[in-house]
Amino acid sequence: LNNGKLSLSFEVFPPKTDTAFNSVKTATEEIARLNPSFMSVTYGAGGGTSQYTLDIAQNIKKQYNVPMVAHLTCVSSTKETVAERIESMKKAGIENVLALRGDLTPELEKGDRSKWAYRHAIDLIRDIKESGADFCIGGACYPEGHLESANMEEDIAHLKMKVEAGCEFLTTQMFFDNNILYSYLYKIRERGITVPIVAGIMPVTNAKQIVRSCKLSGTYLPQRFKAIVDRFGDNPKAMKEAGIAYATDQIIDLLANGVNNIHVYSMNRPEVAAAIQNNLKEIMSYQR
Ligand code: FAD
Repeated sequence: LNNGKLSLSFEVFPPKTDTAFNSVKTATEEIARLNPSFMSVTYGAGGGTSQYTLDIAQNIKKQYNVPMVAHLTCVSSTKETVAERIESMKKAGIENVLALRGDLTPELEKGDRSKWAYRHAIDLIRDIKESGADFCIGGACYPEGHLESANMEEDIAHLKMKVEAGCEFLTTQMFFDNNILYSYLYKIRERGITVPIVAGIMPVTNAKQIVRSCKLSGTYLPQRFKAIVDRFGDNPKAMKEAGIAYATDQIIDLLANGVNNIHVYSMNRPEVAAAIQNNLKEIMSYQR
């Protein structure tokens, strides 16, 4: 990142159960064969699938030599658990970590919080740094503001602290209106946050699911996007085609405006990752 080159990367998620492991592994390998700039593997808050995150990341790195980012959350963890995870990541040869707080799921909220040692991602970043692990550390950022922060000012102030604690790059939450990102970039650059920003793009293939999650996260849905969902949302094949086209359009506009690093939330769907990559073949190889 940050050498002026364009990057196109993909995110995958680990299986939630043993039985799903092989199908997820196959899907992630198909994505790896596209030879993206890097891949990231998410982490189940609460740590239930933590070993799978590492297994998937390690497998792809070893077999396909694709640079990997392993996500790590801390929301319900003890210091000991995090220390163990960091050790396992080191042993697995992981070089890049996306350090996150994690979402408070209803199951976690019901649990016993007395042993929780972390409040924010910054605490995890500090512990990773203190552990002496030589990871390149990234963090999350929110072009529309994080739901829990009172306003954008406050959110950006916290982000600045996170970067000062050791975040070397930031990946954004999904957004569907590029102007929101441009205005956010202006604000964070103005506050002196200069690390590379990786724009997170969600190709919408399951309309109902995404509209629900956007409502929950407060993500703005432009009229052009809503019209596509209203018209094609009930037809999976048409929705997939339109979702890939919308994401492609968004990415071309970002690249044209100097946002060089694009991360596609490919949700373990190799055909979606491949279609987007194929749509950008000439554009990604065009360096100027
Ligand atoms: P933080 O940086 O801790 O921020 C959370 C809130 O706390 C913000 O409102 C912030 O302003 C505030 N805050 C931060 N620092 C302070 C402080 N010092 N004092 C007071 N307030 C503060 N979740 C998963 O479970 N697994 C994943 O793999 C995963 N991957 C993700 C990848 C990306 C790119 C993104 C954008 C999100 C991902 N998430 C994942 C979801 C993420 O865990 C949630 O959005 C979570 O609510 C916030 O995580 P964070 O790391 O941004 O938290």
